[in-house]
Amino acid sequence: MNDKVVVPPIFDGHHVTAFFTTRALHGFVHEIAKILDVPSGDVYLPIQKHTDKAIIIDYDREPKIADAVITGNRGFFIGVQTADCVPVLLYDKKQQVVGAVHAGWRGTSESILKKTIEMMAQRFYTSPSDILIAIGPSIRGCCYEVGYEVIEAVTRASGEGDYFRTKGEKYCIDLPHANRQQAVSSGVPYEQIWLSDECTYCLPDKYYSYRFAKGSTGRQCGIIGIVL
Ligand SMILES: [Zn+2]
Repeated sequence: MNDKVVVPPIFDGHHVTAFFTTRALHGFVHEIAKILDVPSGDVYLPIQKHTDKAIIIDYDREPKIADAVITGNRGFFIGVQTADCVPVLLYDKKQQVVGAVHAGWRGTSESILKKTIEMMAQRFYTSPSDILIAIGPSIRGCCYEVGYEVIEAVTRASGEGDYFRTKGEKYCIDLPHANRQQAVSSGVPYEQIWLSDECTYCLPDKYYSYRFAKGSTGRQCGIIGIVL
């Protein structure tokens, strides 16, 4: 299992299983289910469309369009698929609720992580101070060139921070840092957020990178679930 997934240490000692897959898997539900040793029906991935929509999954497990999923069910695993975008996993250690968020620049600038935390608070009485977060491998500030309008939109949603820089005439943005800033502005303690230091574009042998592949490529998954 070790070469196939990256396990974020932030959830160590808690009743939760969480990991980010690498290229050694293709990110298909049946592969994830096999690693977890559960039926495929116990793994839920939404139909992602770069929206700002978060959904709560309980017993109705029909695939729905969303870019964030929340559940309080035990022994049930939720996730998102990415190939440069940022996968974010959340765990409320008090109310026993988990979330998985797909945050590209559009989702980040539409505050999808903040909206997911707000939905956990409204529906499960989550206090942001009880949330642990893992931000998985994605394209980083070393490689992610964007237009200035992206910098503006992400800053508006996430708050001021040192997550972008200029590269000659161009701008580079570090979306994992922007999402950490967004979580901190939502009340999650900084020290409860783990950030992968890997860049998918710098490591194309290990991760799928949409930009490195110039389009068509596979997807890796960020998966989380509460274990019995
Ligand atoms: Zn890079």
